[in-house]
Parts: sequence; structure tokens; C-alpha cells
Amino acid sequence: MARRKKIYEGKAKILYEGPEPGTIVQYFKDDATAFNAEKMEVIDGKGVLNNLLSEYFMNGLNTIGVPTHFIRRLNMREQLVKNCEIIPLEVIVRNFAAGTLSKRLGIEEGTQLPRPIVEYCYKDDALGDPLVSEEHIAAFGWASQQDMDDVLSLALRVNDFMSGVMLAVGIRLVDFKIEIGRIFDGDFQRLVIADEISPDSCRLWDIETGRKLDKDVFRRDLGNLTDAYAEVATRLGVMPKNSPQVTKPTLIN
Ligand code: 5GP
Repeated sequence: MARRKKIYEGKAKILYEGPEPGTIVQYFKDDATAFNAEKMEVIDGKGVLNNLLSEYFMNGLNTIGVPTHFIRRLNMREQLVKNCEIIPLEVIVRNFAAGTLSKRLGIEEGTQLPRPIVEYCYKDDALGDPLVSEEHIAAFGWASQQDMDDVLSLALRVNDFMSGVMLAVGIRLVDFKIEIGRIFDGDFQRLVIADEISPDSCRLWDIETGRKLDKDVFRRDLGNLTDAYAEVATRLGVMPKNSPQVTKPTLIN
């Protein structure tokens, strides 16, 4: 069998050349990393759950007219996406204080923010993805002013959609990170939501109990990460039934 061409391997995903020009196969690994890969672990079933959850969110966004790179899921670990040029920014939207915002500004975690706050970090692992302003983005040419107007509008639409979807299943969308890609069509370019949307890149808290259902479970050693992600998938109705790749192996005595 011919070996397919690997384009890129990141911390949580591998990208392969897709079957048609302009497409990419995105493979979800079980690897979990935090604190710029200082903490690493392989967590059985994480990739499968993120693949299914990202499919669910991206499909929903496409349906309401928010363009994404997602084409279709291929199997339990892979999805076919449109090839795009990633803008080198992590776009973070926050509804409640948590994480680095709480640390930076001394605001207690869980405090509701007066309005959604959008932040930009420059995507550079070696630098630890530093927070940057629109001045940096314009001065260094990472994106144009028109791009940034579109990025802001896309980020807020994703926030409204995700907040609603989560609220409907009793989960608070505290914050999330997205990446935006450019797709070229002749002389035109279109911005789309790229990468993934999953509990790896969101903070999700159970509304009643405050239980964390996201990657903070791993970052802060709060229990079993797969259980937390499976809880989100179950509430949204995307949990695969009796999938051996997700459920834990049964020990036979
Ligand atoms: P914070 O800046 O508080 O660490 O993160 C804010 C939000 O963005 C959280 O939901 C967090 O999961 C997400 N986020 C920030 N940086 C990254 C990153 O490098 N990778 C992923 N997957 N999510 C990130």
C-alpha cells in the first residue's frame, strides 16, 4: 500500500495530504500536552472524542453560515478538511475569567466578564504563544485590517453559537481558542474557522456543579480526561455507542 504524505505533525494532530487537491486529512492523536508541552501524556480515546466533537461543532457552524475548513469525517480518528493558510494567531474569546486572564489581571476564576473579550496570541511555541495587540498584528503584517475585522466577527459568531449549544446541555462556555485560515479562490480569499474546536481548546464547566469538562482536567490533575470529554459528547448526543476505541478495556481476571 502506498504511504501517504505527512505534511505536519503537531502536539495533538497530524496532517496528511488529502485525496484531492486543496484537501488535507486531519488525524486526531491521543497525545495530551500542556504548559507548552512540559506536561505530556497519551490518553486513550481522546483523539476519537475530539474528532467527533470537532465534527459536531464545525458542522453546526457551517449550517448557520459560519464558514469552516471542515468537509467530512472519514473515520473515528480522521476528518477531511480544506487546505488553508493559517493566520499565525490564536484567537481567544472569553465570557468568564479563567486561566491566564485571571492570572494577568487578578480576577477570580468564574467571574462573569462585562462582555465577551477577544484576545490574540502570536502562534509560536518557542515563545510560548505570547499575547499581542492589533498593533503588532498590523505592524508585522500577520493579517490586514480587513482580515482582523472579519476575524473579530467570526470569533463572536462562534462564541454565540458555542455558548448556545453548550447552555442547552447544561454547560457553561467559559472561554475558547480558535484558529483562522485563508482559502484562496482565484483572486479572492475567504477566511474560515480552521484547526479544531474541542474540549482541548475550550473551557467547559458544568453549570450546576462547576465540574470542569475540558483540558484543565489534565492541566490541573483533576481526574480522568476521557471521562470529562465523554460527558460532553454524551450530553451532545455524539458519543459513539460501545466504541472499543473510546471505552476503556475491560480487565478479565
Ligand atoms: P488561557 O489563555 O487562559 O490559557 O486559555 C484561554 C482558552 O484558550 C482556553 O480555553 C484554552 O484551552 C485555550 N487555549 C489557549 N492556548 C491554547 C493552545 O495553545 N492550545 C489549545 N488547544 N488551546 C489553547
